[in-house]
Amino acid sequence: MNRLHGAIRSYRWGSHTVLAELTGRPSPSDRPEAELWLGAHPADPARVDDAGSGVSLFDVISADPHGQLGATNAERFRGRLPFLLKVLAAEEPLSLQAHPNSVQAREGFEREDANGVPLDSPARNYKDDNHKPELVVALTKFEALAGFRDVRRTVALLRALGVAELDRCAEQLAAQTDSSGMRALFTQWITGDKHPAALIGGVVEACRRYLSTMCDGAEGEFAAEAQTALDLGSRYPNDPGVLISLLLNRITLEPGEGLFLAAGNLHAYLRGVAVEIMANSDNVLRGGLTQKHVDVPELLKVLDFRPAPMPVLRANGDGRDNRHLYHTPEAEFELTRLHLDTSSNGASSSAATLGAGAPRIVLCTAGSTVLSSPGASLELSAGQSAWLPASNPAVTLAPAQQHAEVFVATTGSG
Ligand SMILES: [Zn+2]
Repeated sequence: MNRLHGAIRSYRWGSHTVLAELTGRPSPSDRPEAELWLGAHPADPARVDDAGSGVSLFDVISADPHGQLGATNAERFRGRLPFLLKVLAAEEPLSLQAHPNSVQAREGFEREDANGVPLDSPARNYKDDNHKPELVVALTKFEALAGFRDVRRTVALLRALGVAELDRCAEQLAAQTDSSGMRALFTQWITGDKHPAALIGGVVEACRRYLSTMCDGAEGEFAAEAQTALDLGSRYPNDPGVLISLLLNRITLEPGEGLFLAAGNLHAYLRGVAVEIMANSDNVLRGGLTQKHVDVPELLKVLDFRPAPMPVLRANGDGRDNRHLYHTPEAEFELTRLHLDTSSNGASSSAATLGAGAPRIVLCTAGSTVLSSPGASLELSAGQSAWLPASNPAVTLAPAQQHAEVFVATTGSG
């Protein structure tokens, strides 16, 4: 096992303090820091600290895929680490986006290659031929929009805002409550038919009115939805994403709660700090709320318009070894959260064992933990991480002092 140093990615929606403080660097940082990448993505691999020298995890795995990943994983995932673990620090909303399924990703990647769109072009949608399901687990309160809301609730929201054009849209939705009704309204708004610029302004005003007319302390039924549209409207005044936000589930995750985003799920993370794990892909189709490349026709091809509530994942744990697993159907990744505690008199502490045979990234997010295996030990404090190759013997984790919160990423059983 080796200490792992993640790669910091700077995007404009990032935080100047969160990742700097988490990883023990001077805070505030010069640039906004959005993501800490812990993985072997060729664009920005983490570095393995081997006797003081930093070696790219991508190179370490490429040199010995069987030893690092285990024989089965090496065959199954073509010698690559199939997941990417991140810490996200969103100070501002991220773009409105969705990710393709495997068939769409392969087809899109080959098509853009055939059309000669360079891999590093900002207009390139498909950077690789992989799907990108993702699971996000909140470290702080985490706000998001994800998936199309149940139609009856959306109709009620549109009517509650008191805008004539929205009333008409509500009628249209109420008359066709399935995914094709949602697709029709979404397409009408995002492709700019029927003068959405005027409608966006009207909706922002209506949200302001809705929030101001609430009586003292009483929260309107759609206060969070109206506040979100108002915030997005002040950042992106002419962006149809402001309207689209009214169609999506508005979700608040408490620390420890998770959200799984399957292919085709339209989402926008709004604010908060989270651990995120995904298939090792960079395929994003954007619909707005960004200055990056937006491709509406391509987005329309992959979106899942079925209206449904988004289940919030509460980790399943057996309570005995404080091990909590977030269930997803994916083969590429599995994420577990461990809570390790020392009893108040210091006489006993909880421990967890990670068996040999699987590649793992261990990330400590609170307190500190000691990893031990025969002949080796490594202490991780909050913000630090380690790479455990499949060839490593079993590792035991215990709290270094009172308490530790630890995330363990590995390949899935799905
Ligand atoms: Zn995403």
